[in-house]
Amino acid sequence: MIPVQGVATLQIAVLGLGRSGLTAARALREGGALPLLWDDNPEARARAEAEGFTLRDLAKPGAFDDVAMLVVSPGIPHLYPAPNPVIKAAWEAGVPVENDVGLFFRSFATRDWDSFDQPPRVVAVTGSNGKSTTAALIHHILEHANRPTQLAGNIGRGVLDLDPGIDGEVVVLELSSYQTELARALTPDVAVLTNLSPDHLDRHGGKGGYFAAKRRLFAEGGPERCVIGVDEDEGCFLANQMAETPADDRVIRISVERKLQGGGWQVTARKGYLAEWRKGRQVGSIDLRQVKGLPGAHNHQNACAAYAVARTLGLAPRVIEQALHSFAGLPHRSQIVGEKDGVTFVNDSKATNVDSARMALRAFDRVRWICGGLEKEGGLGGLQDTLGSVAKAYVIGREAAHFALGLKEVEAEICTTMEAAVDRALAEAQPGETVLLAPAAASFDQYDSFEKRGEHFTALVRERLGLDPL
Ligand code: ADP
Repeated sequence: MIPVQGVATLQIAVLGLGRSGLTAARALREGGALPLLWDDNPEARARAEAEGFTLRDLAKPGAFDDVAMLVVSPGIPHLYPAPNPVIKAAWEAGVPVENDVGLFFRSFATRDWDSFDQPPRVVAVTGSNGKSTTAALIHHILEHANRPTQLAGNIGRGVLDLDPGIDGEVVVLELSSYQTELARALTPDVAVLTNLSPDHLDRHGGKGGYFAAKRRLFAEGGPERCVIGVDEDEGCFLANQMAETPADDRVIRISVERKLQGGGWQVTARKGYLAEWRKGRQVGSIDLRQVKGLPGAHNHQNACAAYAVARTLGLAPRVIEQALHSFAGLPHRSQIVGEKDGVTFVNDSKATNVDSARMALRAFDRVRWICGGLEKEGGLGGLQDTLGSVAKAYVIGREAAHFALGLKEVEAEICTTMEAAVDRALAEAQPGETVLLAPAAASFDQYDSFEKRGEHFTALVRERLGLDPL
């Protein structure tokens, strides 16, 4: 745990008692503050009380009279589409609103660091897609190189749940736009933007607000190095703003779409080859087509970003290449869960929308595609150009028949259940093909979460192939 600094004896309100809220409350208490907790959900309040925390209804008039700060969870709207009334009350009372990420950045460095040979460094990853994969990959590369490292943020652990930094350590954080928008301190040593496509627009008042939220990661603290995906205009704009000259190697530009011009520091991956250029010379290359855990151009983008970060931390291309080969992929994101008779089984249950399903489909040559579930707004439009690789679709979900109607370009069998889809795909798959779960839909009609859906697929595949559970 990272005890929060500068809060001793202060009363600090905490709204939202999920994982990050409760962790923040514990870290505040550890730092000597008196946290006052609230959540609209009585069960969450009961859990907090069981830990000995004091509750306070923050919606009551005067709730902020003796409070120094309000700490809120990322799930609570702080501005758009409308601010939560408790946040408005804090504004009215002039009480600063903060989140766990801001508390982390103001508390991570300690006196102990004076005796370190290399102070700990923080790498923070944001972007619309690939954040988790990129953050986990950076962490994996560092572990492979025997560098002390910890991983937290949106992925797994709350940021204040990290252990205090040790000599030479690198902390890798995955940060969402909700987190970067609110944090009052945001000072990573290395900041990463993987890519930008419209998402969560209701929470940011449109695409401009969404980009502005992510851009704070670069603008607030002045990172030593910036790793920026430049396949969208926003990335180009940001890279341009962060660099003083064309060859300024504070900025490393990433692309999977084009060869970049200029003499700056660049990492690109086109047609499966990663290339690093610095000052007009190529200094590293890796054949990513041989890297099984990172299939497809979208994962090559993540590989470029992770490679660039590892290079800024002083690792050699050869060491990074070895680490890429031992990366198993994250569960539910292009995760290989079985192979038999030349057929590969891939779980991309996280592909809950058309965009991410398109990326997954593009990553493989010939696909037996398990899809369907709770359709998102906008239907399946936008998938047509990627269906060329699909040998056949096996449609699941309560509304499978309706979903299949949207797939005019491919042969589609209505399977409804995951069992039927796995069995049919298994029976028909030919050597060299991939059986891919990439639903292009939410899971809630049949499962509690995309994780549960992916676990079910994985368990069925492993059982049918006679393999041990993962
Ligand atoms: P995030 O943490 O940003 O949601 P993940 O790494 O969890 O990203 O991946 C989420 C989904 O997006 C998965 O379906 C994955 O296959 C797809 N994806 C991963 N990386 C990228 C990328 N660089 N660009 C587009 N889609 C991606």
